[in-house]
Amino acid sequence: MEETKTQILDGKELSIRIKEEIANEVRQLTQRGLRPPHLAAILVGDDGASQTYVASKEKSSHEVGFTSSVYRLPANTSEADLLEVVNFLNADDETDGYIVQLPLPKQIDESHIIDAIHPDKDVDGFTAVNVGRMVTGQESFLPATPKGIVTLLQRYGIDTVGQHCVVVGRSNIVGTPLANLMSRNAAGANCTVTLCHSKTRSLAELTRQADILVVAIGKPEFVTADMVKPGAVVVDVGIHRVPDSSKKSGYRLIGDVKHSEVDPLCSWVTPVPGGVGPLTIVSLLQNTMQAYRKRIEAMSTN
Ligand code: NDP
Repeated sequence: MEETKTQILDGKELSIRIKEEIANEVRQLTQRGLRPPHLAAILVGDDGASQTYVASKEKSSHEVGFTSSVYRLPANTSEADLLEVVNFLNADDETDGYIVQLPLPKQIDESHIIDAIHPDKDVDGFTAVNVGRMVTGQESFLPATPKGIVTLLQRYGIDTVGQHCVVVGRSNIVGTPLANLMSRNAAGANCTVTLCHSKTRSLAELTRQADILVVAIGKPEFVTADMVKPGAVVVDVGIHRVPDSSKKSGYRLIGDVKHSEVDPLCSWVTPVPGGVGPLTIVSLLQNTMQAYRKRIEAMSTN
């Protein structure tokens, strides 16, 4: 049997290149006397993972020359108080886009908050308006992780046309929008898509048919070699911290795919970390740039 040579879809390296492209664009704009793009974040409570995510979004914003702000609210913030901050950001001319870091504390209904975000500033692409625009093929902010996966496949020249893409996981932020994007009649898409979830029967039979397998279920090392077709492209969205005393941090990151046995089978595979994660942040920066361009354009025609 011919041996498959596995190649890495290096999200870390690609994210550096795309950030340079964004930084160049920002430099050109500021040299023309325009203000840089501004990305804001609302962080409610003191959840450690959320704080880490917001800090890394802020760091990446500064790397490309954006300005940023973080609105930190206590864990006992009421829905009404949070809505006040959302309404302030909706009206603020200096804010091009903003995110509300999820999850929110229990006393706040996430859907009420997402519904209140102005679609033109919804750089996470979570509002019903942006989801509707995406599904009907109109210009929209695409949700960051699915957009990052499409970018990764496109920039590495992975052929998607007519391929069978199996997406495992149907969350609103990853699996469902990705299934939609991969099935569009558009560049970097045109796949035949199967969307699987926890009620799917004979999951392994389906995943073994995948030319492109995307796994976003939140279960450490769930996908094993017997679930993957030799030569498949495998995208692992999962991120889990597991204790590891050999690391300075005391932990290491693993994905939803058992890479030790799956990687040798793949034509292309995303590592964890350094695969999908860095592209998620880059997509948020690209969306902010998109919001900024639209704002500048609207201001110049008014
Ligand atoms: P959710 O928990 O919201 O959704 C998980 C999905 O997986 C659900 O649709 C669920 O099915 C399905 N599922 C769970 N167990 C199984 C199973 N045994 N077989 C088949 N399907 C199953 O997860 P997210 O989409 O938010 O995240 C998934 C993973 O990706 C997590 O590890 C998360 O940390 C990571 N992530 C990484 C990002 C990055 O930037 N790298 C960004 C976002 C998430 P059902 O609907 O039936 O319950």
